[in-house]
Formats: sequence, C-alpha cells, structure tokens
Amino acid sequence: MPCTLFISDLHLDAGRPLITQLFLDFLETRASGSDALYILGDLFEAWIGDDDQSAMNQSVCRGLNQCAASGTPVFVMHGNRDFLLGEQFAEQSNCALLQDPALIDLYGTPTLLMHGDLLCTDDKEYRAFREMVRDRQWQAGFLKKPLEERRKMAVEMRAASREKTSGKAESIMDVNPEAVIHVMTENRVPRLIHGHTHRPDVHELLIADERAQRIVLGDWYEQGSVLECSPDGCELQNIAIE
Ligand code: MN
Repeated sequence: MPCTLFISDLHLDAGRPLITQLFLDFLETRASGSDALYILGDLFEAWIGDDDQSAMNQSVCRGLNQCAASGTPVFVMHGNRDFLLGEQFAEQSNCALLQDPALIDLYGTPTLLMHGDLLCTDDKEYRAFREMVRDRQWQAGFLKKPLEERRKMAVEMRAASREKTSGKAESIMDVNPEAVIHVMTENRVPRLIHGHTHRPDVHELLIADERAQRIVLGDWYEQGSVLECSPDGCELQNIAIE
C-alpha cells in the first residue's frame, strides 16, 4: 500500500543523541520507500544559520539527502525553533522548503499542512515575538553576527521563552478553535495536519455541516511519532527507542 509520512517537533539536539539516531534509522528504513516525507516544523531544537556545520547538523543533512536520493521526496516546513532553515540547508539535504500553510492533495483529499504556531492566536506575546523573528531585516541582522554570538543569543531566547511559557495557562498554548475553522474554511479543506502543541490526536470536526479532521502530530521526546497516511486514511503511530 502506498503511504505518505508526516512528522514534526523532533527538536533534534546534540544533547539527545538517541533521538537523533532514531530519526536517522527512521529515514533509512521507514521513510525511504514511502511516497513522500513531510517534516512540519521544529525538526531542530534550534537553527542559528545554514553555516552552523556541527557534526549533528551534518549527519542529519546527510540522512535527509540519502532519503531523498532513494526516491522519496522530502519536504521541510519551518517551525518556531528552526525558522532560519534556508536555501543552503535545503540544497545540502536535498529537501524542498514548504510555506506555512501548504496545501497538498493527499490521495485525493485536499489537505492543509501547518506547523501550528499560527493557530495559537490566544498567545499574544508569542505572536509579537514571531513577527519580530520572521522579519527579513531582523533575520539578515542576526545572520550577520558571528556564529558564537548567535549561539549565545539562541540560548538566551530559549531561556526567556521557557520562563514565559511556564506562567501561561495550558489553553493559551493550544490552538484557537475559531482559528482552525477559519483557516480550513478559507482553504476549503476537510483535513488539517499540524504539530507544535505536542498533543498528538485526531479530532473529528463538523465545519458547515461537513465532516472534517484535524490531526495533531506528536513530539519526539520519549519516543518517535509518525502519521502514516494511505489512500485508506491516516494513522498516528509511536516509534519506540530500541
Ligand atoms: Mn513548535
């Protein structure tokens, strides 16, 4: 049976080598041979520029490249951690960068793909931060700084964000239901797939009396998580660490 795979929120980090290895194995076995692999944001815990050729970054790019070379197209969307993934990364890893949102035809079902942070409209503070770091001028200024300085800034931003989110209500950091209906109606899709919230689930919805589905991908902290879609439907699966 043909299948297409969706993953997100791996948060790959040199400090969690088992997860990186799990992902490299996944690329070599499961992903190679599937119709396509979609990575919907936060592949990396942080990405401070395509010129950061750390050992981990290089081995991940190599793994992606080999998967694509095996004949499986690989698509990568920016997340709120790795929004600086650029053209050089795309070339090095043989991936195509996806806009957020992206509309695809999934075995005949129009399907909208997002990272998910755009749906969390109740978190005003994060919205302002997103606007700042997605600004081209801000990004150009950041990328001009020496690698070491960028690394330090990324750690500081991460600490500040952790402090802010710890004081926020759970509901604020989940998707806004109206934002979901709005984006699905606007794009005329019966299916939305996104990550970001780390709350893997399949939500059955009714939008204007039509059946619709919102599928949330899981993170890769304790295990791997993948959504496998075939012409028969979609299924969320866990991947255990050996
Ligand atoms: Mn995210």
